[in-house]
Amino acid sequence: MPSCKEISTILSSHQELPFYKKVQLHIHLILCSQCLKYKKQLDLITTNMKKLYEKKTAVSQAEIDKWKESYQEFLIQNGANVNHEDKK
Ligand SMILES: [Zn+2]
Repeated sequence: MPSCKEISTILSSHQELPFYKKVQLHIHLILCSQCLKYKKQLDLITTNMKKLYEKKTAVSQAEIDKWKESYQEFLIQNGANVNHEDKK
């Protein structure tokens, strides 16, 4: 089983994984709520960055504030803990 540190590196890299690595990753995310929260945070950031890129125009301050607000709400709801230590 890969460590939380390895999982966070894999999640951050966005690279295509061999099948057995995908299975390991999936199992780890089922068992480790901290890494699952980290994955959700990354997904949220990625989604918003894609939206920003697709617009290809300047984003209003109001829109940035809205994103910040929704991200902060997300962190509060899920317990912000991006830099968690391995529990070993
Ligand atoms: Zn983990």
